[in-house]
Amino acid sequence: MSIKVAVLGSKGRMGAEACKAVSEAKDLELVAQIDVGDSLDLLLSSGAQVVVDFTHPDAVMKNLEFAINHEVSVVVGTTGFDEGKLSEIRGWLASHPKVGALIAPNFGLGAVLMMQFAAKASKYFDSVEIIELHHPNKADAPSGTATRTAEMITDARRSVNKEAMPDATTTSLDGARGALVGEVPVHSVRLRGLVAHQEVILGDLGETLTLRHDSIDRSGFMPGVLLGIRSVVTHPGLTFGLEHFMDLK
Ligand code: NAP
Repeated sequence: MSIKVAVLGSKGRMGAEACKAVSEAKDLELVAQIDVGDSLDLLLSSGAQVVVDFTHPDAVMKNLEFAINHEVSVVVGTTGFDEGKLSEIRGWLASHPKVGALIAPNFGLGAVLMMQFAAKASKYFDSVEIIELHHPNKADAPSGTATRTAEMITDARRSVNKEAMPDATTTSLDGARGALVGEVPVHSVRLRGLVAHQEVILGDLGETLTLRHDSIDRSGFMPGVLLGIRSVVTHPGLTFGLEHFMDLK
């Protein structure tokens, strides 16, 4: 039996792409496309089992509260979640133990893998720095993905008591060594012609390792969105990050 899926933010760039991907998947059925001005009651009348949200940070919490309170599982790509919002969602889920909620800051399978590989590798290298490169219309720097990667690397390095990275810089122009996220310098490039890219450069005596991920088109997020939809129906409770639905052992 196919999984009935609704998409919130269906007229947006990501939402439209998600509608297409769900329609084309044989095991999924697109039962509702909801955007600004449409009633959330469409979620109920359509019989959706899962709703995908690609709306706006200001709108997403109201949508999630409605869906969870009506026993609809959620797959969320909308950004802007902090610990406060996550604990509010946990509170709603506590009263609905069969409902699943996946919040995924990045649905790109390659991006998720890059973050995991970078964190694992960073235990074995003295130095690591991140360069993230994006189109010039991006509002935030560093990117959420770069910030998350740096946090994961910092946790991994601390777990094996790595010493501070070697760096003899004593004088520098502001910004020349990037922004420090945890222990990791992150350098942000904004350049016309780019989409979304990231390099993690690891170095030790006599060798370097470079991990690079390139997002070329929004369609690249869709295998991750479909994985999220298929997984959330069998994983009640809150899941933060698509890596938890991937076999990364
Ligand atoms: P977008 O093109 O602006 O699409 C958002 C859509 O949602 C618009 O059609 C918007 O309508 C609609 N919307 C806003 N509030 C709504 C509500 N209360 N109910 C229903 N629809 C509503 O933005 P986008 O580029 O698709 O990005 C959407 C979100 O996904 C952003 O937070 C972005 O950062 C995030 N994102 C996540 C990933 C990931 O991998 N997790 C990847 C890319 C983007 P109006 O235009 O009329 O406001």
